[in-house]
Amino acid sequence: MPTRSALGGPRLLLRRLREAMAEPVNAQARLDRIVVLIAANMVAEVCSVYVLRADQRLELFATEGLKREAVHLTTMRSDEGLVGLISTTAEPLALTDAQAHPAFSYRPETGEEIYHSFLGVPVLRGGNTLGVLVVQNKVKRAYSEEEIEVLETIAMLMAEMIASGELQAIVRPGAEIAARQHLALTGTPVADGVGLGHAVMHEPRVIVTQIVAEDTHHELERLEAALTAMRANIDQILDADGSAGESREVLEAFRVFANDRGWLRRLREAVSTGITAEAAVERVQNDARARLQRQTDPYLRERLHDLDDLANRLLHQLTGQSLIAAPESLPDNAILVARSMGPAALLEYDRKKLRGLVLEDAGGSSHVAIVARALGIPTVGDVENVTNLLEQGDAIIVDGTTGEVQIRPQPNVEAAYREKARLRARRQEQYHRLRDVRAVTRDGVDINLMMNAGLLVDLQNLPEAGVKSIGLFRTELQFMLASRFPKVEQQFQLYKQVLEAVPGDVTFRTLDIGGDKILPYMRTYEEENPALGWRALRIGLDRPGLLRMQLRSLLLAGAGRDLRIMFPMVTMVSEFDEAKAIVEREVAHLKRHNHEPPKSLRLGVMIEVPALLWQLDELLERVDFLSVGSNDLVQYLTAADRDNRRVANRFDTLSAPVLRALASVPKKARAYGKPVTLCGEMGGRPLEALTLIALGYRGLSMSATSVGPVKAAILAADAGDFTQYVETLLEERAGTASLREKLRAFADAKGVPL
Ligand code: PEP
Ligand code: MG
Repeated sequence: MPTRSALGGPRLLLRRLREAMAEPVNAQARLDRIVVLIAANMVAEVCSVYVLRADQRLELFATEGLKREAVHLTTMRSDEGLVGLISTTAEPLALTDAQAHPAFSYRPETGEEIYHSFLGVPVLRGGNTLGVLVVQNKVKRAYSEEEIEVLETIAMLMAEMIASGELQAIVRPGAEIAARQHLALTGTPVADGVGLGHAVMHEPRVIVTQIVAEDTHHELERLEAALTAMRANIDQILDADGSAGESREVLEAFRVFANDRGWLRRLREAVSTGITAEAAVERVQNDARARLQRQTDPYLRERLHDLDDLANRLLHQLTGQSLIAAPESLPDNAILVARSMGPAALLEYDRKKLRGLVLEDAGGSSHVAIVARALGIPTVGDVENVTNLLEQGDAIIVDGTTGEVQIRPQPNVEAAYREKARLRARRQEQYHRLRDVRAVTRDGVDINLMMNAGLLVDLQNLPEAGVKSIGLFRTELQFMLASRFPKVEQQFQLYKQVLEAVPGDVTFRTLDIGGDKILPYMRTYEEENPALGWRALRIGLDRPGLLRMQLRSLLLAGAGRDLRIMFPMVTMVSEFDEAKAIVEREVAHLKRHNHEPPKSLRLGVMIEVPALLWQLDELLERVDFLSVGSNDLVQYLTAADRDNRRVANRFDTLSAPVLRALASVPKKARAYGKPVTLCGEMGGRPLEALTLIALGYRGLSMSATSVGPVKAAILAADAGDFTQYVETLLEERAGTASLREKLRAFADAKGVPL
């Protein structure tokens, strides 16, 4: 066994193993050679490799010492026997007398009864067990710590071989190895569309190839240097007042971990066993992952992510590789996979090569999701653990409409999605042909379809969507993408470019931050209920400096043009009065300084807070227009968080109470001769759009991709029919449950495409 004098042993063994892995022989011959090498080097009579299959059974793939006939015949459940125990606990197990262990399960076909001592280690990758590596001896002997570590090091090499997929060729016919198995995952649908391609990790894992150290002392020095550099880097980002892509909270957590004594000690100890600094980071992290992944406490699981990120940073520091994928080296059909990413990072990739985006820790309302939608990249969010289940380059399919993600799809699954993508492309082609057709119902009701936007990249979608106007320009996106408050000049530039590029009206909404829209550089306050807290116009009025600067930028950009501004989250009419007074002061200020004023200036209010529904008269006397923000309005009406999946079925836009509330707005607005539009997500869904038209809405603003489907539905529908049906539904008090199914059946019966 490798005692001190044999320390050259493991190094030599690993070199031999590497050579064996590179030999041009088939997978079985290679594995057979590997077990012989390990057994000989570790002075063991037995060395066996078990590989985890997709059906959660461990299959004996190769052995030296056990009966050869058992190879590919012996299998056990992943929780059966000693091998199963190692697989489920993901921890090594060393026993002097294996047969005395309660988990021991006797397999006569292997002939293992003559071997007493047993040492097994899990083969881990990304915290997942891929297999188990075992050595056994006849005599009852205790394995040393050092031996356990040597076997763990070999297991790292085995992980590479299993993950490569090479062993799939020799698994028992009909079975699939777990490491390469097809997985169907589900997340939150974020941006519509189907994408097929190959996984590109936004933050690629460093693949550690150099495992054994030439010089342990040197490796310890490298580790310390990398740790120091990494800590300095984190401090620097934290101190650089907001230039961080990541939130402060995450970086603070990094800082704590980076100085954690236990973590540092484990790293140093691992290096002291004779492996490289990189291999040490990987091993310590694999252990941590295996331990923490079995935790059910969400807080601890969250820390695992922080720790993962930190380990990854350290690996990148050690190897000098850049932390994120080089956007310019993207393959043609890339599906980007990220734990989470900032919106600016996404914009760096070449849109033409991106077929999809999969996010582990970000959902539909994240900033990157907003950009993904603007760019029209099929995207799924909240896909648990996806970054650990994939290898760079794996085949992957994203369905941003249903939220499905297929990893390493089987040919029939792939064919089905290809067909889906083809159908979608054909439908897009039909929408494309409707581009220049006006949205008029069969009975001649003209509907003004507009687009929601917030970034310059959105504007390139205008011609394809066939719309002229922007019904909602979310100005906060510029603020959310920036690393500090955009100056008047920067805001002015954006607004001016928008006004120049858009042929019709643009309705700018003043800053809607707070709630879930956080500016990393702005001081935040802990709030119990951020959605009910200090947000949007509330911040604007309490801190008028910010609002004034924005209004000034808007007024400057609107010089000599028609300018429309609306205020979000108005609760009381008096807040509109206050906001209007600020606008007037700004107009006066600009005039005093000889700036040309806008040709016309219209001020509006978003109906997002239910309280406004009972102030419509006062409001309509004052405003030039109204726009219903149904995302927030419905969230507050139903007391159901718009982004919380658990209550998503209670956030029902087609329920009687919501429809009655929505009906009151156009009815009142007509009496005052004031235009009203709706700019929430529901307006972009065909069935909801028709229902809104039935309630009296004539202007809908939506995402670019929704325009085609909504227009196709409008062209096929009769507004009078729908109005009558919706009125009957609301009058007959059938509204004890959702009206969705009834409305859908009605639309189907009328032959309206939804
Ligand atoms: C809304 O609340 O419906 C809306 C359009 O605003 P946002 O989605 O930006 O909150
Ligand atoms: Mg809103």
